[in-house]
Amino acid sequence: MVAAQPRWSQDDLWDLFDLSPVSDSDIQKYLDVTLAKCVSWFRASGGSIFLQDGADGFVLRAKFGEQKRLPFDATIEKGQGIAGIVAMSGVARLIDDPSLYPDMAGVEGNQGISSSMVIPLADPRRVVIGVLNISRKMGEPTFREIDLDQAVALAAHVSLAVGNAELVNRLKSSWEQTAVANEQLVAVLDSVGGAVWVVDGGGRVVNQNFPAAELESEAGVMEVGLAMPRLVQSALADSDTIRAQVYDSGVDRTWLMRATPLESGGAVVAAQEITEHERQQRELGRVRRLAEIGQMTAAIAHEIRNPLTGIRSAAQMIRQHPDVGAEFSDLIEEEAMKLNSLCDEFLEFARPFQLNLNSESLGGIVESVVRLIGAQSEELGVEVDLTIEDAGDEIMIDGRRIGQVVHNLVRNAIEASSPGQKVVVKVGEGWFEVEDFGGGMDEETVEKLFSPFFTTKADGTGLGLCTSRKIVDAHGGDIVVRSELGVGTTFTVRLVREKK
Ligand code: ADP
Ligand code: MG
Repeated sequence: MVAAQPRWSQDDLWDLFDLSPVSDSDIQKYLDVTLAKCVSWFRASGGSIFLQDGADGFVLRAKFGEQKRLPFDATIEKGQGIAGIVAMSGVARLIDDPSLYPDMAGVEGNQGISSSMVIPLADPRRVVIGVLNISRKMGEPTFREIDLDQAVALAAHVSLAVGNAELVNRLKSSWEQTAVANEQLVAVLDSVGGAVWVVDGGGRVVNQNFPAAELESEAGVMEVGLAMPRLVQSALADSDTIRAQVYDSGVDRTWLMRATPLESGGAVVAAQEITEHERQQRELGRVRRLAEIGQMTAAIAHEIRNPLTGIRSAAQMIRQHPDVGAEFSDLIEEEAMKLNSLCDEFLEFARPFQLNLNSESLGGIVESVVRLIGAQSEELGVEVDLTIEDAGDEIMIDGRRIGQVVHNLVRNAIEASSPGQKVVVKVGEGWFEVEDFGGGMDEETVEKLFSPFFTTKADGTGLGLCTSRKIVDAHGGDIVVRSELGVGTTFTVRLVREKK
């Protein structure tokens, strides 16, 4: 005899299929309630739900009635036992022969069970995510095919709810992650010290940090706000970071601003105040200048003393022996000329200079300096050898000052050479080179070479190379030194950058 289905109202049925959104926190309640309703609906004596845990295993998540005897940590392995076979095949099974009902999740299955429905829970892609098991005790009527059909329909709804819970949970955790990342970002931005704005593609500020808000509310600060749209526009146009130094004369403050385009559109703008840094730099420059002036004063006093002593002795000689006046007045003139050129050198160093650029031939300038200096060098027994490798076109240079550089380098080379040695000067397109075979220099000397007042000569000023470098720098060129102790030295001056 087949037992009649209990009379359930339509509401109860809908209740069973109720699918209000389930989140991970109340999925347990949903499973418990749904399982209880199922057991009751099918007039079963027990039921259980296993859900996926890992690649091949399912763990017990809910149990009811007679199946409460299942241990809490009961599991199903894919392919093992009836439940495992259902989980693997994805096909629901109705078992109404107790002898066929073997081990169920580690519990001797056929103890008192007469009939059982084992239904897979599958996600929309038909991947099994769990197993629903409903059973009747011995003595109760066995399940029929119609029961299985209903159970399968129900399982589809349970699967959806479980899937939803998973989605809701994932959404919640990604929300939480975003919230955490956002909180960290805000904290980082607020503590960077500088002002940071995020603007959208239309240049509207969509986010800003605390220092940015503070800066905007400061009275009188105008230029940062005015510079922002300009920077953003350039950054977006170039697809690259744009930097600018912004000075606000109204408040006498300076900012370093940077706009970086974002791939998602818009840009990040940062402003870092550098007023204090700028002031310190200026102060440092002033201190450095004062130190140089101090050094220069000492050097001037030292340099002037020698010729002055010579002049005084000569004057004394003339007073004591008026007959040798002519000879000593020559000496006086010579010392006076030395003083004069000393003055020139000091003035050249001290004076802020402006270049007087003209189109001139580098070869011509080098040649005339070498010719002038050659006469003096012959007296010292040093020959200056000039090779013009490539006269090149005329270039924009300050001829007088470049002549001075050539003079300083050739004179140093002659001074470093011994009688009988050669100084080799070469000129090419936009460059020249002065090579000597004198003593050469150790590394320490090379490092100090361009410092003002560095000299190893008794009557040197130590200004020749310092001034030369200033001149070459002003032309946008560079001076390269190669020197080997005991071998010689080569200075190469490049005025026009090589074209690649
Ligand atoms: P000064 O010639 O008045 O000493 P410079 O600035 O011209 O000042 O040169 C600085 C120092 O560099 C020299 O005193 C010398 O020690 C070193 N120096 C410059 N050129 C050469 C060179 N060609 N060979 C060896 N030493 C050199
Ligand atoms: Mg010199």
